Amino acid sequence: MKYSPFNLNEQNQKVESRIVVALERISEAFRVLLWTESKENSLSPIQIQILIFIYFHSLEKCKVGYLADEFNMTKATISDSVKVLFAKDLVTKETDPTDTRSYSLSLTSEGKKIAKKASFFASSIEQPIEKLTEEQKTIMLNGLLKLINNLNKSGIITIQRMCFTCSNYQLDNGIHYCKLLKSRLAESELRVDCPEHELQV
Ligand code: SF4
Repeated sequence: MKYSPFNLNEQNQKVESRIVVALERISEAFRVLLWTESKENSLSPIQIQILIFIYFHSLEKCKVGYLADEFNMTKATISDSVKVLFAKDLVTKETDPTDTRSYSLSLTSEGKKIAKKASFFASSIEQPIEKLTEEQKTIMLNGLLKLINNLNKSGIITIQRMCFTCSNYQLDNGIHYCKLLKSRLAESELRVDCPEHELQV
């Protein structure tokens, strides 16, 4: 019989199951913190996530289709959220001069104000991480990067802009190297969301 990681007998026998349950508790913390931030601004959690994403990413990534992939949602769901952001005057359209049917989203000054404040919603998760040793942080980062990479490979989560999926990344004899930065990357320097990321083909 196959046991669930949420079955306490199994969970207490397997470290993998306890990690799964621990990750579930952390995802719950994200959900609660994001929900609190959303309520303060009378927006939904995904609308807050869209504002934060636009605040920190280049214009070509701020399109409805890209956002749908980024947040693993349908285009229709993202479009509905974006309509509310337009109605509240938090985003504007930036039309592509080479293709007038296509547009990107940028933030209005009010949108920027909300995005800037909201981008700190996860601070209470970052603070206890800061108290870990450098070695603990490196091990945690590496484990999480490998987990994200595997979830990406199995199609559970879509877009990733991490070193492991980048054409500039090389692993040689256990040494991580970025061809673009022409530099070795320490384990603790591997990126989760890199502005220079180029998808492997
Ligand atoms: S370009 Fe960015 S994502 Fe790609 S290998 Fe270099 S640091 Fe990593």
